[in-house]
Amino acid sequence: MNFHEYQAKKLFADYGIAVPAGRIARTPEEAVEAAKTIPGDLWVVKAQIHAGGRGKAGGVKLAKNFDEVKQYAAAMLGTRMATYQTAGVELPIDTVLVSEGTDIDKELYLSVLVDRGTQSVTFIASAEGGMDIEQVAAEKPEAIKTINVNYVEGLRPYQCRALGFDLGLNAKQANQLAKIMLGLFKLFHEKDLALVELNPLAILTNGNLAVLDGKVDSDDNAAFRHPDLVAMRDIRQEDETEVKASQHDLNYVTMDGNIGCMVNGAGLAMATMDVIKLEGGEPANFLDVGGGATKERVTEAFKLILSSDKVKAIFVNIFGGIVRCDMIAEGIIAAVKEVDVKVPVIVRLEGTNVEAGKELLKNSGLAITPADDINDGARKAVAAVAGK
Ligand code: GDP
Ligand code: MG
Repeated sequence: MNFHEYQAKKLFADYGIAVPAGRIARTPEEAVEAAKTIPGDLWVVKAQIHAGGRGKAGGVKLAKNFDEVKQYAAAMLGTRMATYQTAGVELPIDTVLVSEGTDIDKELYLSVLVDRGTQSVTFIASAEGGMDIEQVAAEKPEAIKTINVNYVEGLRPYQCRALGFDLGLNAKQANQLAKIMLGLFKLFHEKDLALVELNPLAILTNGNLAVLDGKVDSDDNAAFRHPDLVAMRDIRQEDETEVKASQHDLNYVTMDGNIGCMVNGAGLAMATMDVIKLEGGEPANFLDVGGGATKERVTEAFKLILSSDKVKAIFVNIFGGIVRCDMIAEGIIAAVKEVDVKVPVIVRLEGTNVEAGKELLKNSGLAITPADDINDGARKAVAAVAGK
């Protein structure tokens, strides 16, 4: 689950990390009211969407007076914004964050994530943060520093200070960094997060560190333990089909291609997408209907796949281990009848009761193309979208 910047900053504050004064607004008038509660003579108006890259897309504006606050908020609210991180999707701006404006001397980068390679929670930092961090990572990998945290010992303050000195901070700033990192580590651990990113973590002209931007991503598998995080979810920022899928307990991810995939098991679903690509095709989605695929779930899965008009063929690839192939076949037949599927459907069944399943499909009278194995199925799906 992704969160907005203002929600991330609230979590940081809950864990003792200082964040600039800020308030959210949903109308230009509210934005002015928010600015009036924040002392100083510079404010930042920031579009709240589930993506970074807002600065370059016009979603972060410095306002020198209340009129400018109102003007910037009015220009953002109610519109949609695409950034280089949204893959062409325009996300709705329902909320802006009005925040204390600060004078920046230098922008650093700091993030926490799970590094599978070292099997540890890892901090990544760079003295060259800001809006071009991707470029720094690509062109100057030596400017990126990492710390792998030993989970038994925990994060030690000296590690944080050492990182600070490595980034060129002075002693006072290194201590501020340590406080931020210890707070982030506790937050990361207690809330089962997948990613926290501060970019920029700024050095202000007054010499202090300031958390100017925050991104938090939590582990969906642990959502049941964190009703407070679930309550912060903003489904308007999420892919509509993926939201519907999550309501039916289906693991669904929208992709760019035109071959819809319905598979049981995440590993088989990944392999199916790979084989489709190997055969020269492009998957339209990742979909794992799960081990307990029932007739109802198969129907919902078909509806989801077909809700995209990009889909020109469907490849059903089911291994009947716990589920029986004849039951899956019944589900497919019911779904195809109910949903009125107009595109070619290629079905590969393997496993328990496979012969009975194939027989049912053959006798259904529906235009379902059987496949012998995963490669054969992928080949037939690729041929079907090519009109062959
Ligand atoms: P992002 O582009 O979505 O990552 O949004 P950020 O919150 O990181 O803002 C983009 C850029 O705007 C930052 O890298 C800063 O250069 C600038 N910015 C953000 N907040 C402030 C602020 O309080 N004062 C000043 N002067 N610049 C800011
Ligand atoms: Mg940023």
